[in-house]
Amino acid sequence: MLATLWQIVVNSFLQFFCNSGRMTMDLTFLGTGSAYPSPHRGASALVLRTDGECWLFDCGEGTQTQLMKSQLRAGRITKVFISHLHGDHLFGLPGLLCTVSLNTSSESQQDLNCVEIYGPRGLRHFLRVTLGITGSQLLFPYAVHELEPTPDQSPEEGKLNPEMTAERGPLHPQEQPGRTISLDVSSDTYLLFEDQKFVVKAFRLFHRIPSFGFCIQERDRPGRLKTELLKELGLKPGPLYGRLKAGESVTLESGRVVQPSEVLEEAIPGRKVCILGDCSSVLGEGPQRLCSGADILVHEATLGNEHREKAVDHGHSTPEMAAAVARACCARRLVLNHFSQRYKPSAMVKEGDEDHVSELKRQAEEALQGTGVEVILAEDFLTLQISLRRSR
Ligand SMILES: [Zn+2]
Ligand SMILES: [Zn+2]
Repeated sequence: MLATLWQIVVNSFLQFFCNSGRMTMDLTFLGTGSAYPSPHRGASALVLRTDGECWLFDCGEGTQTQLMKSQLRAGRITKVFISHLHGDHLFGLPGLLCTVSLNTSSESQQDLNCVEIYGPRGLRHFLRVTLGITGSQLLFPYAVHELEPTPDQSPEEGKLNPEMTAERGPLHPQEQPGRTISLDVSSDTYLLFEDQKFVVKAFRLFHRIPSFGFCIQERDRPGRLKTELLKELGLKPGPLYGRLKAGESVTLESGRVVQPSEVLEEAIPGRKVCILGDCSSVLGEGPQRLCSGADILVHEATLGNEHREKAVDHGHSTPEMAAAVARACCARRLVLNHFSQRYKPSAMVKEGDEDHVSELKRQAEEALQGTGVEVILAEDFLTLQISLRRSR
């Protein structure tokens, strides 16, 4: 009896292990305000968490204190993505790196991984100067991988000054050489990296200075094991299940070869998260293909539709403009973000206040009527779960 119970427990564990793999993925907004941090909205920053690893997208001033107030741990940040070099997306980065270093134990220094930082040309120089002039030493290495913008990403006056963004001087003592990534003209995107779990690309946006969006595509995973069929074939739960799940064929004692395709259900599609930096438009056709079917699309909506001209003049978007991008990409959820500080969080709006953030949501919903796209207002410390879909 005990042995049977034990077998059930072991089987369930194995089945769970074989069928779950990496399951959790969530997105936490740390700062949802534009221009500067205020007591009610932090400057731009959000964290995508997968299996305990944290990827930080933008790092406005005060991001480290927002992190301390959240459930997340700054020490878990392994990758940083900076959409553009405006201060409300960047001023927090040198300070955050220094604080993470202060909280790092020097004994574990040997095993510390390099923090990979991605962002526009100029970021490498910015960090080298800010960390260098302040005499900041880090207990971990970092590398900056720079994206080369194209000339059409900003008005003339916003073009990155080649002199100002050129690398100068030796590497910072903890800096490792980073890559310079150019636009892949055929796909209209930038390949940042790919590994067994993810393919991460960037794409071009139009803003007052060159800005980028990021697309995080999780790879598809094998479908669930057909355990009944496996039992019929005489295969007991164990390492062979893992091999089939990993795509290897298995030979039975009878000589019969079992192919993974026979015993696995349909593959589970990977999740797709698209996070756009400040912009008044997306450049090229590539990004639409790249972001197609996104589970979540995070888009700025700095000002309401009634301020469209002002928004566009400043390189920003309205809810209607954000909705148009979500519609073109057939996104499942649109998260509006990066609000002018005039829009207080819903909970703080008082009677008589003129600018209601809920109006921004209404405007996006109106533009998306009949599409089924869900609209969400980002708020500081809001966490959104991104669950797996069983089919495409
Ligand atoms: Zn901004
Ligand atoms: Zn900006």
